[in-house]
Amino acid sequence: MFEEIEKNIYRIKVSLPRNPLKTLNSYVVVGTERNLLIDLGFNRDECYADLSAGLRALQLDMERTDIFLTHLHSDHSGLIHRVAREDTRIYMSRDDAKINSGFLRDKLATWEKIERSYVKAGYALDEQIKTREANPAFSAAPAAYFETEDIDDGALIDLGGIVLQTVHTPGHTPGHMCLFDAERGVLFSGDHILFDITPNITEWEDLDNSLGAYMESLKRVRRMPVRRTLTGHRENKGDFVTRIDEILAHHETRLREVRTILAREPGLTAYELAARMTWSINVRCWEEFPPGQKWFAVGEALSHLRYLECGGVIRREEVDGRYRNFTI
Ligand SMILES: [Zn+2]
Repeated sequence: MFEEIEKNIYRIKVSLPRNPLKTLNSYVVVGTERNLLIDLGFNRDECYADLSAGLRALQLDMERTDIFLTHLHSDHSGLIHRVAREDTRIYMSRDDAKINSGFLRDKLATWEKIERSYVKAGYALDEQIKTREANPAFSAAPAAYFETEDIDDGALIDLGGIVLQTVHTPGHTPGHMCLFDAERGVLFSGDHILFDITPNITEWEDLDNSLGAYMESLKRVRRMPVRRTLTGHRENKGDFVTRIDEILAHHETRLREVRTILAREPGLTAYELAARMTWSINVRCWEEFPPGQKWFAVGEALSHLRYLECGGVIRREEVDGRYRNFTI
């Protein structure tokens, strides 16, 4: 139901059915003045059942509870309308709040725009439609637009007895935010740092070279005196610096792989490149990738291509409405 992690910090495990992420960690921080609920789960009945059971068991007074969303993704924000009351303060970074409001005010138009960019990356349009239905980013998002209290880097959230500081960590999303309890060295890392899986880095209209930004954000938090990392998914036990170094090394390996593939086969689209990259997924071939996973893989390929393009290592060329990539 819930688990006490540190004094006045609790975790509620929210299961994410039919999703490779498996679970979302929703955290509750209890202060003397206010409580803070960090991240929620998909807008799905199964997620709501887990979260509401945890909140009930904790006997959390929602009148004294604010909500903090580490980023806009629907596995973190989806349940907002089922949990927030009319007067609940909902914190989100200014950058993600802007993207989120654009998306929730006109979901279909925003999605079609993303799909057009994926066609340029090599996707076939009929495959896109399958992806849309399979993608919880679209189907399990918050039911409607919601007002947020937009926050910037370094803002302090004082709960009474516990003060949390926001740390802007762009990369996974343009406005991703971690929260730091400096007194105890506890970092709520959202999806910036995960232990069992590598956070997905895709391309964003609002954040050029998202992989470059992500790696900078990793290096930034690496300098912080973090004793305990409370991740947004799955296990939250592991060494902070070791894990950051592993993730950085993972992307360096990936970047080398992309260069090698393109040197061998110049002119690939991001889609074709993704089909040739190495993935830790339990399927035999690219055709067997579940549509949602294929979508994430192409996003990963795009962010790595853009990183290399910004570094002057590759160039892309538009040929018949598709971006083709070449090493320089
Ligand atoms: Zn997530």
